[in-house]
Amino acid sequence: THILLTGATGFIGAHILDALLTHTNLPIRIAVRSPAKGAALLSARPQHTARLSTITIPDFSSPTLDLTPALAGGIDGVIHVASPVTYAITDNEAELIQPAIRGVEAVLAAAAAAGGVKRVVLTSSFAAVLDISRSGGEYTAADWNPITYAEGVAGSPVEAYRASKKFAERAAWEFVGRGGAGFDLVAIAPPMVFGPVVHPVGSVRELNDSAAVLWRAAEGREALPVARVAFWVDVRDLAEAHVQALLRPEAGGKRYLVAAPERFNYALAATIVGEEFEFAKGRVVEGSLVPDQSKSIDGRTAARELGISYRGFRESVVDLVAQISKKQEEG
Ligand code: NDP
Repeated sequence: THILLTGATGFIGAHILDALLTHTNLPIRIAVRSPAKGAALLSARPQHTARLSTITIPDFSSPTLDLTPALAGGIDGVIHVASPVTYAITDNEAELIQPAIRGVEAVLAAAAAAGGVKRVVLTSSFAAVLDISRSGGEYTAADWNPITYAEGVAGSPVEAYRASKKFAERAAWEFVGRGGAGFDLVAIAPPMVFGPVVHPVGSVRELNDSAAVLWRAAEGREALPVARVAFWVDVRDLAEAHVQALLRPEAGGKRYLVAAPERFNYALAATIVGEEFEFAKGRVVEGSLVPDQSKSIDGRTAARELGISYRGFRESVVDLVAQISKKQEEG
C-alpha cells in the first residue's frame, strides 16, 4: 500500500515528501501535473527511488478532471497539498477558487471510489480561518473566515485566495460529512510559511510566494512588505505536522492550526538578516521590530496532539536566506 501525495513539486509538499521519506517506511506515489518537475524531484532523491513513484494528473482547472487513476491500486492514505497559490490572476473564480475546490472534490471522490483509503490529510490555510474584522483574542480551529463565495469572486486576488482555501476546505468536510467515504479527514491550517526550499527551483524568480516576499525583505532593495498577519510556521515543522496527522489515528476528524507561538513582521526578518549575514551588515531597518501582538493563535493544540515542536523565527529566516543567497551566487 502507498501514500498518495499531491503538491510535492511545491514548497510545502516537497518538505512533506522528505518528512515521509525520513520518518516512515511507506512507499509514496506523488501526483504531479508536470512530469518534468516530478522527474526533477525524484532525481534529487536517488537514494529513495525504490520507494517513490510518480503519476501525472491533469491541472485542477481541466474540464475533465478525474483523479481515479492516481488513486487506483493500493493507496491507504492521501495528503492533498496541491492548490493554486498565486495572486497573478485575472479571473478569481476560474484561476483560483474553482481549481482549489475541484481539486479537493476530485481527490476525495477518487479516494472514496478506490476504497482502502483510511485517512485524507488536507492542507488548508489560516486564510480559511482569518476574520479581517476581528480586533483581538485568540484564533482557534473553531474559527472560519466569514468571506462569502461572491466576495471571493468579486474581490482582490488576496480575497480570492482566501475564498479558495475556505470553500475548498468546506467542500472536504461536507464530503466526509455526507458519510460513506470510507476514510476520515484531518485539515491542517498554517499561516505564513517560511524556511528553506527543497523543491526544484531554477532561480530566485521561481521562488514560491512566501519565500519570495521574505527574500525581498532580506535584500532590502525596496520598502519592507507589510505582514498581513503576524502568524507563521517553519515549513519543516508544518511538514512533520502533516505526517503525524496521517499517522495518528486519534487525529481523525480534526482541524489543526499549525503556527509557532512567536509573531513576525518583515522588519524583524530584515534585522535578523542584517545581524546574521555579511551582505546585509550595518543595514538600517525602518519600522517597528515589535510584530502585531493584538491577536494570538492556538498552535499549542497541534503541537500537543501531533507531537511537534516549533522552530524559532530566526532559524527559519537564516536557513532560507542562507540558501537563497548561495543560489544567487551560483547564478
Ligand atoms: P507552491 O506554489 O509552492 O505549490 C503549489 C503546488 O500545487 C504545486 O505542486 C503545484 O504544481 C500545485 N498546483 C497549483 N495549482 C494547481 C492546479 N491548478 N492544478 C494542479 N496542481 C496545482 O505553494 P505552497 O507549497 O506554498 O502551497 C502548498 C499548499 O499550502 C497550498 O494548498 C496552499 O494553499 C497552502 N498554504 C501555503 C502557505 C504558504 O505560506 N506558502 C500558507 C498556508 C497554506 P506545480 O509544481 O506543477 O506548479
